[in-house]
Amino acid sequence: MTTDSGYVPQHGCAISVAVIGAGPATAYLLAALATKANGVCPKISIFESSAIVGRGTPYNAYSSQYQLLSNLGADEIPSLHIAFSQWCVDNHIQFQQKIVPRYLIGQYLEHAFRYYMNKLGSRLSLYTQCPVVRIEPTAQRTYRLHTATALLGTFDYVVVNTGHGSIFHHAETDPQYTSAAAHRYFDGPYPLQKILNTELQELVLRGASLSAIDCALAVAHKYGSFSQQRGKYSFHARKPLHITMYSTSGKLPGPWFASLDLVAPITEAINQLIGDNTSISLEAVFKAGFVDFLAKYAPSVYLQIRSMAMHQVIDYLLSNRALLDVNTLLKIEYISSSNNAANQENWQGVLECFGDCLHACANELSAQDKQRYESVLKPFIAKANAALPATSAAKIHALLRAGNITLISQQISRDTFAKGLPRHIDTALYVDCTSSNNLSGVGIMLQPLIEAGYLTHTREEITEPLDLNVTPHFEAINAHNRPAGLFIGAQTLLGSTLMTLPGLSLSHTIAGQIAHRLVTGKGASAQPANNALAEASEDSQHGDSTADTTLTTAG
Ligand SMILES: Cc1cc2nc3c(=O)[nH]c(=O)nc-3n(C[C@H](O)[C@H](O)[C@H](O)COP(=O)(O)OP(=O)(O)OC[C@H]3O[C@@H](n4cnc5c(N)ncnc54)[C@H](O)[C@@H]3O)c2cc1C
Repeated sequence: MTTDSGYVPQHGCAISVAVIGAGPATAYLLAALATKANGVCPKISIFESSAIVGRGTPYNAYSSQYQLLSNLGADEIPSLHIAFSQWCVDNHIQFQQKIVPRYLIGQYLEHAFRYYMNKLGSRLSLYTQCPVVRIEPTAQRTYRLHTATALLGTFDYVVVNTGHGSIFHHAETDPQYTSAAAHRYFDGPYPLQKILNTELQELVLRGASLSAIDCALAVAHKYGSFSQQRGKYSFHARKPLHITMYSTSGKLPGPWFASLDLVAPITEAINQLIGDNTSISLEAVFKAGFVDFLAKYAPSVYLQIRSMAMHQVIDYLLSNRALLDVNTLLKIEYISSSNNAANQENWQGVLECFGDCLHACANELSAQDKQRYESVLKPFIAKANAALPATSAAKIHALLRAGNITLISQQISRDTFAKGLPRHIDTALYVDCTSSNNLSGVGIMLQPLIEAGYLTHTREEITEPLDLNVTPHFEAINAHNRPAGLFIGAQTLLGSTLMTLPGLSLSHTIAGQIAHRLVTGKGASAQPANNALAEASEDSQHGDSTADTTLTTAG
């Protein structure tokens, strides 16, 4: 049997597919395959480096203490075998916060993963504690997968669902555990357990993003406890602990906001604007797709900004934060917003949807506007999307008040940070929490394929993290501009294809596209990578059942 991309499956009729990684992306892939397959499901082998299935990096027990929150409300988690809320009811699970704790999402994902494993039965094989270190192309246009010591098999297609890299497989033998004591430095915070296993009095973090906050809260919960009185948290240290966070802006992420379902109306507004024009102006799109929608969703903000130019709007929306010190900001933004969430002016929710819509039509912009979009608007949207749940913010506020956290506005290079800073005690533990370029060997695994032209970059210069060219079905495009038979479900390898932050909604959407391609063999033509999500959006408008998520994501 020959598929659209010209590959000749080697194993009788059933196409063989290797999936690397058994995290949330693979849970959503199994769900999509089980829904679409109708008895023609390929033969799937899943290789997972850890013993953990379904939960992936953020939702496993080593990275998601009881107290650590996701940034999703219950109805924002894309459904798997059963809707998340119903799963909670069926399992007699209640949680107090509006935002779902990460460990609970992990339990749901694992439950779903096992459900779909059963459903797919003998068509699926799972190999845990099996880290893939090498993918080798063959002359027959198949791929051989290797661990460090063994050949795992030969496959027609490979799905790279490696996410944030390998979860360690044997905690005791993981080199990061043994080297930590010697170097007192980690180049990334996950799994958090490695930090909790290290005795410390002073923790120094590079970055004040969501992962730095994750790290700070995990350590605070180990060294003390929080009490709450009339909505106000206080921290009580059991042991001496001081945390320093270095951040360029000296600010924490903005407050959590509810996702809005505005992709369709914003797309329509932008399409009307495009009309018969060959190109559109960024200012006009910004007004039609963002500012005008604030009249309904953030009326008092709208009154202030309706006649401003784009750069003034951005300055305005950032200026309140820039002027206030971090303590006051936390108090005003988070604590009042958590008390009054229902009436919150939700300009961030509108911006999130606008970001997705604009990303899909960015090719219509002039070269100059495209450059402004990349350098001014996109970073602003990314910043606004990284949102901190109110409970986490209130706890950070308590730590700041108690003097257990100091936030310093200073830019420090990765190398300087890794060597240690004289300001801190000799035994301080340094953790780099800026966006990770260390994907635990994923880059090394893919590098030979890049060098041999099986995978291509979106840009000429090779960037870290990798940013690969894919078709709308997330199939990598090779150096001959042909689909390569390798599917990229790891959001961390798709920088410029995806607009919003990595999240479960994106995993859901990407999985639907990959499953469609694997089951029907359709969609093999190589198209510009940036249209991938636009295409997914079109599919959803045409009633494709696995592409029917909104393209917004709160994660
Ligand atoms: C701290 C944190 C918090 C987050 N919070 C949210 C949130 O609240 N809401 C949200 O929507 N999104 C959140 N995200 C985004 C998150 O990336 C996605 O929700 C989701 O985890 C993506 O799943 P994944 O399977 O692609 O990757 P991962 O979760 O990273 O899973 C990858 C899996 O592949 C395995 N693996 C990797 N390399 C190999 C290899 N070479 N061989 C074999 N196995 C391998 C890993 O062990 C792991 O099991 C968060 C991310 C982080 C890091």
